[in-house]
Amino acid sequence: MGFSQSDKWSMETDVVVVGFGAAGAATAVTAHERGAKVVILEKAPEGQEGGNTRVAGQGYLNTSSVESALAYLTALCGPYTVPEAMVRVWAQEMCQNNAWLESLGGDPQEHQHPPVGIEFPDLPGSDCVHKFHDGPTYGYSNTWKMFARLVKQRPIPVLYETPGRELIQHHVTKEILGVRSQHGHKSISIKARRAVVLTCGGFENNQDMIRNYLPGLPYCYTSGTPYNEGDGIQMAMSVGADLWHMNNYAGPSMALKVPEIRTTFSMQALHFSKVMAGGMIVVGPDGNRFCDEKYKTRHGKVPVNSRWLPLTTPCPMFMIFDQTLFSAGPLYDKTPSHGWTQIIERYEWSPDNRAEQAKGWIKTADTITALAALIGLDPGRLADTVKRWNRYCEANHDPEFGRRLMMAPIIERPLYAVELSPSMLNTQGGPRRNEKAQIVRPDGTPIARLYSAGEMGSIYSYLYQGTGNIGEALAFGRVAGRNAAAEPPWE
Ligand SMILES: Cc1cc2nc3c(=O)[nH]c(=O)nc-3n(C[C@H](O)[C@H](O)[C@H](O)COP(=O)(O)OP(=O)(O)OC[C@H]3O[C@@H](n4cnc5c(N)ncnc54)[C@H](O)[C@@H]3O)c2cc1C
Repeated sequence: MGFSQSDKWSMETDVVVVGFGAAGAATAVTAHERGAKVVILEKAPEGQEGGNTRVAGQGYLNTSSVESALAYLTALCGPYTVPEAMVRVWAQEMCQNNAWLESLGGDPQEHQHPPVGIEFPDLPGSDCVHKFHDGPTYGYSNTWKMFARLVKQRPIPVLYETPGRELIQHHVTKEILGVRSQHGHKSISIKARRAVVLTCGGFENNQDMIRNYLPGLPYCYTSGTPYNEGDGIQMAMSVGADLWHMNNYAGPSMALKVPEIRTTFSMQALHFSKVMAGGMIVVGPDGNRFCDEKYKTRHGKVPVNSRWLPLTTPCPMFMIFDQTLFSAGPLYDKTPSHGWTQIIERYEWSPDNRAEQAKGWIKTADTITALAALIGLDPGRLADTVKRWNRYCEANHDPEFGRRLMMAPIIERPLYAVELSPSMLNTQGGPRRNEKAQIVRPDGTPIARLYSAGEMGSIYSYLYQGTGNIGEALAFGRVAGRNAAAEPPWE
């Protein structure tokens, strides 16, 4: 989108940051510390800013050695290589996260009970993984609150409910001059004398992009912010950006999604660490099981023939279970310290699951054939699957998928079904960036004055190390903030 002489700038600043999560905060604070005037545009209303960062587990990675970090990230990329210069910057900056936060008054605390969460311990350099959070309590948006505080302590205006819509590009030089944004019905053009930095997250809520880019998913929902709709990716594409890592995402898991609530409910019985009384399996549209329902995936990836692939999720999927599980407590756990449904929506799930049954979220019938008819599955096939499962439980051996947990038969009536959808934490793909955090074209040349950081175009191309997203948002947020502030003003 060009800017003509007759257009008027509504506002001007040095650096416009689009999106107020971890990446936006790190970019804005760094650019401000380097002397730039900064404005943050945020799509969500005040109180719902912070994106996935606000509802994340609150861990961030601080790697312990550059050389190990180089080896580990290179191995995480597998065959989907990332340029060495980029990996090196990642490794160097990831070692600086704690020092930077401490220098600003943060209180980095390492997660307790080591070894904690080295996702791929067999890969070279995995000893570099050290996970931190801010302050004494892990979770409950605490690390995010510190990032938000760093912004609010500085004269950095945050414009809420003001999504970035278009990049304003010089029609000859193609450099980025500002952002066209929207507040209510009003269009606002914000001049960025030095640079624009896109930090507005992934495409977790854009079903068209999900169908186009994520492998094998007809639809997918998120347990993170509902405001990340791929806007920044589309804005960058419109000015000629290349894309990368579009098929990589932190998921899928299997969760309940209902129209009334924007984000997903995780089912306790499906959590790898939760053992509940009662029988439960998950079947696909053909009435057959397709996985070990209790497997601890690596952020959605499962081992297949010595490679890691996203869990198969043939939709629609149904959790089939019996009265024993139904009466074992709420099927959804509202207490975890993270997730949009828990932290922001705060839906009060009934202790006996009856309210959700009355809403039709949980279906019930006296026989397996009647249950199959209710959910549109072949009754004979579902009955066979349940019979087979019950035999496996008797033998305490699941020859199909090797499941070991909750090996309880589905017998006590009535029987129940919950439809499950694929769910994810976040997408990793977006505009390709270089080691300076500049967004680049397909030929590798940077689009002048356009930067990015965070999960929008993240470095993770194949495997993902937990806490690596916020770690990277801080790392490349600093790189983007430094370089954006160092751009000479275009007038
Ligand atoms: C439940 C859950 C747990 C997680 N746990 C962890 C963890 O412990 N550690 C970890 O490293 N990662 C974790 N992740 C992933 C991690 O939270 C994200 O990848 C990371 O926080 C992304 O930071 P970001 O700043 O790039 O994007 P976000 O934090 O998502 O921020 C993007 C911001 O941009 C705004 N926005 C969107 N569109 C526009 C627009 N057009 N204009 C202006 N603003 C816009 C959004 O409202 C949002 O505020 C978790 C994710 C989830 C969902």
